[in-house]
Formats: sequence, structure tokens, C-alpha cells
Amino acid sequence: MATKKRIAVLDFDKCQPDECGDFLCIRVCPVNRNSKGCIIKNKELFRPEISEDLCIGCQICSVKCPFNAISIINLPSELDKPIHQFGKNSFRLYNLPFPKNSTVVGLIGKNGIGKSTVLNILSNKLLPNLGNFKEKGSIEKLVEKFKGKQLMNFFVKVKENPKLSLKPQRIELLPKNAKGKVKGLLKKIDDRKKLDELTEMLDLSPLLEKELKTLSGGELQRIAIAATSLKKADYYFFDEPSSFLDIKQRLKMAKAINSLAGEAKSVMLIEHDLAVLDYLSEYIHIFYGSPGVFGVVSSVKSSRNGINEFLNGYLKDENIKFRSKELSFEVKPPTKSVKTNVLFEYPLIEKKFPDFEMKVDSGSLRQGEVVGIVGANALGKTTFVKILSGEIKADNTELNSNLTVSFKPQQLKAKKITVRELFSLSEINKEIFNSEFKKKLSLEPLMDSSLDKLSGGELQKIAVAFCLSKEADIYLLDEPSAFVDVEDRLKIAEAIRNVIEKKGKTALIVDHDVLFIDYISNRLIVFEGIPSVSGKANSPAEMHSGMNQFLKGLEISFRRDPETGRPRANKLNSIKDKEQKEKGEYYYSV
Ligand code: SF4
Ligand code: SF4
Repeated sequence: MATKKRIAVLDFDKCQPDECGDFLCIRVCPVNRNSKGCIIKNKELFRPEISEDLCIGCQICSVKCPFNAISIINLPSELDKPIHQFGKNSFRLYNLPFPKNSTVVGLIGKNGIGKSTVLNILSNKLLPNLGNFKEKGSIEKLVEKFKGKQLMNFFVKVKENPKLSLKPQRIELLPKNAKGKVKGLLKKIDDRKKLDELTEMLDLSPLLEKELKTLSGGELQRIAIAATSLKKADYYFFDEPSSFLDIKQRLKMAKAINSLAGEAKSVMLIEHDLAVLDYLSEYIHIFYGSPGVFGVVSSVKSSRNGINEFLNGYLKDENIKFRSKELSFEVKPPTKSVKTNVLFEYPLIEKKFPDFEMKVDSGSLRQGEVVGIVGANALGKTTFVKILSGEIKADNTELNSNLTVSFKPQQLKAKKITVRELFSLSEINKEIFNSEFKKKLSLEPLMDSSLDKLSGGELQKIAVAFCLSKEADIYLLDEPSAFVDVEDRLKIAEAIRNVIEKKGKTALIVDHDVLFIDYISNRLIVFEGIPSVSGKANSPAEMHSGMNQFLKGLEISFRRDPETGRPRANKLNSIKDKEQKEKGEYYYSV
């Protein structure tokens, strides 16, 4: 049997020695009580330091720490030395994926598990220290470490002539580093003379004369993808390229990124939208481990098998179960609409702004159902949700209803209060919060964190839980999957459905992730029109006809994976794609 290796990781930000009773962990550690310094005080950092050699793994310190700042984890000894460790008692990464020529390789896994670290290593932004965090890493040591393996060739190439291009995750920082008009900025880096082609592919024309600092998140994302693709490189890396993009833009982004692989380049990307990841990548590496503590990169798998193994929580080749529960889709497509009492009827809704107008057909919402809302950006989806929530008024009608609404907006504002304080408010149904969200969405370790210190994904989970833990008749959630990793997306979807079914209320969900919408919705409202000019939506339709209408507009067809039941986008012009389109079945047949 494999022996266990133990790692001890301290969350530096959570640890508050002044608040816990002056280094409580040091006092409770049984090894310390035997006069051995298993946990000592690092006077310089004013934080505890844990010896992984002396630690006996009793977990007392992690249980007693009031701020959940310590993780003690047993690792299987098969794991060699880490590829990178950020410092003593810090996150460590095991294994590396390798880029393949003429191919798109996808990386999938939870947030905080090392995916961005991997892209930073492979794009030469971070030199890994091979676990020796007291020393600086070097390419020579990496070449030596991977002698005889595929990664050796990669690092040799990087050492001789690094031709790498990386799209970072945090595109909102771009205007801080580059100033001026978009066209001028892109022209400067257009080594491949592809600006016209990418302008066409990514619909950049309306943005070219704008100042970079004036662009929205979705616009900045498209510019960042173009900028990364314009550079002359052998290896291209994209960190979450679909964030802020609507589904139409995601498909265009996929085409642009795919064209790089078509030109014999190696492409690697991190993506949380499973339909996009599946559509785009040929191979997949799965990341598993414990967020913020350690991350392991799996062997390479075909895209279909990799995504299925990820959903199953079991790596076949490695014989490793990394999740106790599988994430499953309903195999019987599509999700049935619920025939229950009507909760709310709304009339035809019209709204005009100086440059934009929208119209939504009248409809009704039923008890216990989730209605998905889909369509491109700037067609009025959020306006419709805001009218229903009472935040803004329609032009043609008054929405008189005694029903109460709980609304999660698209843009989240983080207050300076802790998660615990937020969920102590009187409007919160504590039972729903505890049973549906606290444990299931892993919110427990965040309870004493301040909202303004949370990551985008953590804040989103809190906002969804807060919205659904309030008492209301209608729940409106605008883009609940944004910034959330793939695993938590499906957990959020499950939680929303549970709460709505349990309470017999209604939820309206605006989102761009097709799998998420498929997973969660009983019926669908489809927005169509010309973005930023005019938008029109139908009454809530059955899933089959609604999805069919939506996917037909995108000219993309979906089938079901026979093993997991998840929807899979057909490759354009494949036999299946042609067959389904001929029959007018863009959404897998019933
Ligand atoms: Fe206190 Fe926890 Fe920090 Fe130890 S890890 S010093 S118990 S806050
Ligand atoms: Fe000490 Fe290790 Fe037990 Fe923590 S888990 S109290 S460090 S022996």
C-alpha cells in the first residue's frame, strides 16, 4: 500500500493571530505539547509555521482555528515532488500538461487549483521551483527534470527562442497597461498581419476607433483574444476566453482560436463553459486536489472522455476518484416543463431608450418551475428582468402584483461585511441557507471572510445563495454562472432547482452557458434582434421548441452524450450536424 505524504497549508489572509487568542494553533498542537516545535511562530511574518515532518496529522489545529486558516492533507506518495510551491505551508502544484502541435488542449477543474499557475509556467511568466521554494527556478533545471519526456522539447524550445502568447484571465486590468485607441494598439502588435481577418471573425469593427479604457468586459475580452492571436508565436495560451461573452460571441471566439491550431500552432486554454470547451478542444487535462492547498494535473485525455471523467469524478487511467458524487444530466431529454398552477401572468412589455427598444410577449410563470432566458448581449434580457423586479418601469403597462421578488443583479457590489453577517440578516431563511447552500456550495470556510475580499466566483456563489435564501415568490438571477468554475456551476444549478421545487416558487435565469441553461430550465424565453438596436422575446416556450429556435439562430446543433446525458455541440458540417439540421432538430431529438 502506498504510504502517505502530509502537507500543511496556511491561508495567510484568513489567519488572524491577534483575533484567535494569540496563536491558538501553537497551543493546541499535541506535538508542541511534547516539547517539539511542530507549529512555531514566524516572528517576521507574524504567522504560524507548520513542520510537515513533525506533524502527525491529528487535525486539531485545523478544527480549532476559528478562521479555517489551516489545511492538513494526506497525499498519496505516488505524487512526486511538486512542480511549483509558492512558499512554506503554501499551495503546490503537481505535474504539468503539455502543449501539442496543431491542436487545442483544454484545462478543466475547480478554481484555485492551479490552472492559471500552469498557464503562467508554460508561457514563461513563472519559473517553477520544483518544490524548492527557497531557490529560484530555471529552464535548465526544467529541461533536466523532463529529460526524455515531451515537455523537455517544449522547454528546450522556450529556452532557445521563446515564442509565446498569453491572454490573461483578468482582462479588466488591460486598460491600466495600455492606453489609446483600440485600432492603434492592435496594429502595433499585429506581427501576423491578421488584424482584418480577426476584426471580421470577432466583430471588432465598431470597437476599433474607441479608447481601450471605455470598453465593456465583453468588448475587452474580444480585444484581448485578438491581441493574443495577432502576436507571432508557436504557443498560444488563453485563460478563460469566454468570460463576459454571449453564446454567439463564444462560438466566434472558438472559431478564431481554432484557426490558430489550423495554422500548425499549439493552443492551450482554460475554460469553464463545458459546451465551448468540448466544441473547441481535442484533448483535455483534468485538475483535481483541494483549492488553495494543492492541485494535480491528470494525464491527457480525449475531449469527450476527459469531460465525461470530469463529470463522473473518476479518472480511469489513474484509477483515482476525486469527487464522491458524479455530476449527472437528466438522460431523458429535454427537461420536462412542469404543469402546475400559474403564479404570475405578465402582459406584453415594451420599453424604449434613446438608442434601443425592446418588446417581450405576454406570458405566465408557474409554481415550481425554472425559466431560462437566452440570447445575445444587448437585446434587453437584463432590462426585462429589471422591469419584472420593479427596478425600472415598462412604457406601455404597469406591473401590478402583490408578489415579492428577490433579484440577483449581473454586476455584484461587495460590501465590507462578513459572509456570516450577511446571512444573519432577518430576511434570510436560515434553514434553506444551511440545507441548500452552506455545505453544498462550500461556503463554510468563507463565513468569516469579508465580502470585498472574496474572488469573483466566491462572491457569485454568495450572491446566488443570498438571493435564494430570502423569502420571495419570484427569483430573478442575472448570469449566476459568471466567474464560477464548472463544478460549482452545476452545483448552483442543482441548488436553484431544489429551492424552487421545494418552495413551489418560480425562478427566471439569464445565462450564456448552454449546458447550465439545459441543466436548470423547465421552459425558455428566447431573445432575438439586433444587439444595441432592438430586441424581441417570445412567451416562455417548452424547452425543445425554445432551444431549437435559439440554436437555429446560432446555426449550431446539439446532441446528447450517450454516457453522461450532457449536451454536446456537433462540429460544423459533421454528418450528425447535417442530419439534425435537415430535420430541423437543432436541439437533440426527443
Ligand atoms: Fe490563529 Fe488560526 Fe492563525 Fe493559528 S492559523 S494563528 S489558530 S488564526
Ligand atoms: Fe499539530 Fe499537525 Fe495536529 Fe496540526 S495536525 S495540531 S500541526 S500535529
